[in-house]
Amino acid sequence: MKISVIGTGYVGLVTGTCFAHMGNSVICVDNDIEKIEKLKKGIIPIYEPELESLVEENYRNKNLKFTVDIEEALDNSDICFISVGTPIGEGGSADLKYVLSAAESIGEKMNHHMYIVNKSTVPVGTADKVKEAIQKKLDKRKSKLTFDVISNPEFLKEGSGIEDFMKPDRVIVGADNKGAVEVMKELYTPLIDDADKFITMNIKSAEMTKYAANAMLATKISFINEMANICERVGADVNKIRIGIGSDRRIGYSFINPGCGYGGSCFPKDIKALIKTAKDNGYIPKIMESVQGLNDAQKYVLVQKVIERFDKDLYGKSFAVWGLSFKPNTDDMREASSIDIIKGLINRGAKIRAYDPKAMNNAKEIFLRENSNIEYAENKYDALLEADALILITEWREFKEPDFDIMAKYLKEKIIFDGRNQYDYEVLKKFGFEYYQIGVSI
Ligand code: NAD
Repeated sequence: MKISVIGTGYVGLVTGTCFAHMGNSVICVDNDIEKIEKLKKGIIPIYEPELESLVEENYRNKNLKFTVDIEEALDNSDICFISVGTPIGEGGSADLKYVLSAAESIGEKMNHHMYIVNKSTVPVGTADKVKEAIQKKLDKRKSKLTFDVISNPEFLKEGSGIEDFMKPDRVIVGADNKGAVEVMKELYTPLIDDADKFITMNIKSAEMTKYAANAMLATKISFINEMANICERVGADVNKIRIGIGSDRRIGYSFINPGCGYGGSCFPKDIKALIKTAKDNGYIPKIMESVQGLNDAQKYVLVQKVIERFDKDLYGKSFAVWGLSFKPNTDDMREASSIDIIKGLINRGAKIRAYDPKAMNNAKEIFLRENSNIEYAENKYDALLEADALILITEWREFKEPDFDIMAKYLKEKIIFDGRNQYDYEVLKKFGFEYYQIGVSI
C-alpha cells in the first residue's frame, strides 16, 4: 500500500519504517530539514533499538523515502498518518498546533482521495477538528476532493518501539465508515496473529482508549509507589509486597515496580490532558489528580533520603548518578525523574557526576542551560570517582550486575541510593555498602 507519515519522531519514524519493512511504499515527511537530511544519510536522530539497520535496509530498497515536501508525500500515498507531537498546552490540555497545522497542509496539498489517520495522542473530538481544518482548505481551493479521517492511536513503548509495533497487543481503529475500516484492516493484517486484536470502534472511543490505557498504567505506578511509601513507615518491604500481590492473576506483575516516579513524553502530559478534558466537561477526575500529585512527590523521595543521610546543606558533597533517560533503552529525557532529582541536589549545593549509556547528549542540552554543577563520566565506574554516594535513577541493564569491588574502591563512601530497587540488600551488606531503596525501611 502507498503510505505517507507526517512527523519523523519516535512514533512516526518507527511507524514508517515498520510499514516499509512489511513491503509497503512509505514516504516520511518532516518540516525539520536537518532531520530529513540526516535520515537521508542514514543518520538516525533518536536512539531506538534495531531502528538504524531497518531504516538503512528499507531506504536502500527504496521502500522508505524521506522528504520535507508534503505535496510529494501526499501525491505518493493513499493513506497519510499524522504522527506529530502533542505537547502540553494551555492549562494542561494537549497542544494541537502541530496536528492542526499538518491537517491544514494536507487540505492545501492533497490531489486525490486520502485516508487521513491520526496516530498522535489527541483528546476526544480532535478528529472533528482535523476534518474541519482539511475541509476549510479544500473549500478555499474550491476543491471537491473527499477524504476520511481515522483514529489509530499508537501504543508502542520507547526502547522497544520496533518490537511493539511489529507484534502489537492490539490495533485500535476508530472510523465512521466500513471502507475506512477495511483499508486499515488490510494494512495491519500482516501484524495481527489473532483477529480479536484488531479492535474497531467509533472515533471518539478510539481517541479516549489511548488516554484510558496510559491513565491505567500511570495509576499502577503511583499505586505501588504509595504502597512503598507506606511500607517504609511501617517496616514492611515493598519488594516482597510486589511479589505477594503480583502472583494474583487478577493483579499481575507488570507496572507494579516501585521507583522514583514516571516520566517520559507520554504519561505526564497525557494524564494532565485527561484531567483537563474531564474538568472541561464538568467532572473532577479524583484518581487522576492523585496519580499526578503522587508522581510529582515521588520524584523527590530520593532527594529526601539523601538529605536525611547527609544534611539539607549539600555543599561540598558530590554524587554519582547512574541513568538519566526517563527509562532504559532510550535516549529520551523528556520529563525524566533524573531532571528533578539532579536539580533538587544541585539546588542544595551538591555536585553531580553522571553517566547514561545513551541520553548524555540530550541531558547536556537540558542541564547546561540550568547550571554547571554537573559533569559527565566516560562510563559507569568513572562516574563513581570521589563521590560521596551513588544515586541510581534509571535501571539500564548494565547497572544490574556491576562489580561491587570496583564500586567500593571508587566511591569515597560506600553508599547507594537506589531509585529502582535493583540490588539485593544482603549482597550489598557483605560488600560493606549502606543501601537505601524505595519502600524498604532499614
Ligand atoms: P516527536 O516530538 O519525537 O516527533 C514529532 C515530529 O513531528 C518531529 O520530528 C517534528 O519535527 C515533526 N513535525 C511537527 N509538526 C510537523 C508538520 N507540520 N509537518 C511535518 N512534521 C512535523 O514526537 P513522538 O514522541 O513521536 O510523539 C508523536 C505523537 O505520538 C504524540 O502525540 C505522542 O503523544 C504520541 N505517542 C508517543 C509515544 C512515544 O513513546 N514517544 C508512544 C505512543 C504515542
